[in-house]
Amino acid sequence: MKLQAQFPLLGLNTLAIDSVAEYFVSAESIEDVTAAINEAQAKNLDIKVLGGGSNVVMADCVSGLVLKYAANDCELISEDNEFVTLRVDAGFEWHSFVLYTLAHGWYGLENLSYIPGTVGAAPVQNIGAYGVEVKDSIVSVSGVYLENAESFTLMSDQCDFSYRESCFKQALNGKTLITAVEFKLSKKPNVKISYAPLNKMAQELGVPSPQLLSDWVVSVRKSKLPEPSKLPNAGSFFKNPVVSISVFEKIQGEYPDIPNYPQTNAVKLPAGWLIDQLGLKGHSFGPVSVHKKQALVLVNNGGSGKDVEAAAAEIKSRVKAKYNIELEQEPRVFC
Ligand code: FAD
Ligand code: NAP
Repeated sequence: MKLQAQFPLLGLNTLAIDSVAEYFVSAESIEDVTAAINEAQAKNLDIKVLGGGSNVVMADCVSGLVLKYAANDCELISEDNEFVTLRVDAGFEWHSFVLYTLAHGWYGLENLSYIPGTVGAAPVQNIGAYGVEVKDSIVSVSGVYLENAESFTLMSDQCDFSYRESCFKQALNGKTLITAVEFKLSKKPNVKISYAPLNKMAQELGVPSPQLLSDWVVSVRKSKLPEPSKLPNAGSFFKNPVVSISVFEKIQGEYPDIPNYPQTNAVKLPAGWLIDQLGLKGHSFGPVSVHKKQALVLVNNGGSGKDVEAAAAEIKSRVKAKYNIELEQEPRVFC
């Protein structure tokens, strides 16, 4: 385990930003992580933890140490007639893990198929898609604190999970490296098909098995979302705003067609629709364009992190001017 200086990050982020890390290391074990933390402290380096790089915006130069955890085992911890509990290393690629669970007849993650990234990043923003959030299957999250390399385990109810949020983005933001996640999955299928594209397919083809549902999710996503390897992007660039009922009613008065999803005492509005109504689908801000099929996705055509941030700031300000809604950026900035 040796820190590498001036390490290129171009291939390690899905926005394909041509960035350089002051130092980089890929840790294969917890011992490697401890050694890397000690060395960073000795060199007075700030540590940034990187997974698959699918939810980050890189500056031209990322200061300090970029630390990746590469261990990727999966261990069956316990099993009964109904459930299994698995302990999965943070470096396991997320979609491969979903396919692995389905191949074993362990269910609950099928709606989260084809989300890029790693198992370790999944709890960070409580990844979600098609009405399912990863928190529903998480038992606990283990890792180390970056300030002293001490280990921790937080039970699911201690992780402050909410819509695309967790303590790892809030109170513990930038302070931990997650090394493993424990999942409880069901042996009995219980498919969730409330989202329109899945519901439509179920009406035409019948209620799917979890494996088939995963295939449907993959095909819907492929038809709508750009592949980062071809059109570099970080998925949804903004979170869907959740506004109070009174704010929603005011907006709906002006825009009666606005799609909306009621929550407890609040309403979720699709940020993609808000951006689309500004006529921005397919629009370019220099090297960064709004994807032509999904206005929530920004595609980087060779721009820098600054170009991406500038495009995002312009979109935010136009949304604010038109609807008086403050969009919140989803990808984290590494600088
Ligand atoms: P990174 O981008 O490397 O890191 C993201 C954040 O997590 C950073 O703050 C980083 O420091 C932190 N982090 C990463 N690993 C660790 C670790 N081991 N310990 C501590 N902190 C860590 N997200 C969804 O929720 N739902 C979707 O449907 C979805 N679809 C997407 C589609 C596309 C095409 C793309 C490009 C992205 C999509 N995303 C989606 C966003 C992204 O895939 C997820 O947020 C994913 O969990 C990020 O994983 P990663 O390993 O790439 O994390
Ligand atoms: P979509 O189906 O066009 O829907 C637009 C938005 O409306 C979604 O973001 C979704 O919110 C919301 N929505 C749709 N149907 C809903 C329902 N029945 N109940 C509550 N909310 C509903 O979205 P899409 O872009 O194709 O994405 C499909 C799914 O993949 C979504 O869940 C989305 O979050 C997820 N996704 C996430 C990312 C990311 O980077 N975070 C990228 C691509 C796709 P939610 O986002 O709250 O589900």
